[in-house]
Amino acid sequence: MSEQYDENSADERIYCANCINCKLVRTQIGAGQHQLRVRCAAGKWKKKLGEEKFYKYFTVARRSVESCDSYETMGETKTYMKELKKTLPIKDEVYVS
Ligand code: SF4
Repeated sequence: MSEQYDENSADERIYCANCINCKLVRTQIGAGQHQLRVRCAAGKWKKKLGEEKFYKYFTVARRSVESCDSYETMGETKTYMKELKKTLPIKDEVYVS
């Protein structure tokens, strides 16, 4: 029974990566080089002092919230997250622009 309960809880979580407001952005780190970050276009990710917080793209699958009034799903969560995890880099890569 408890195993079933845990599975249901996991399915009900909101994954930011599956939200239309989760946007991929490039951060320039030098001449012709950039890294990938994600931001919440609804302005929900904030640092303690109120500045906008960006997260490293390769960690995006870990971002989840219990509830969010701006969540707009991009599709069926389980399938979407499974496919996303297959394509995410395993570390913070540097790309040539
Ligand atoms: S709107 Fe809510 S669910 Fe969507 S990315 Fe922002 S915090 Fe996550």
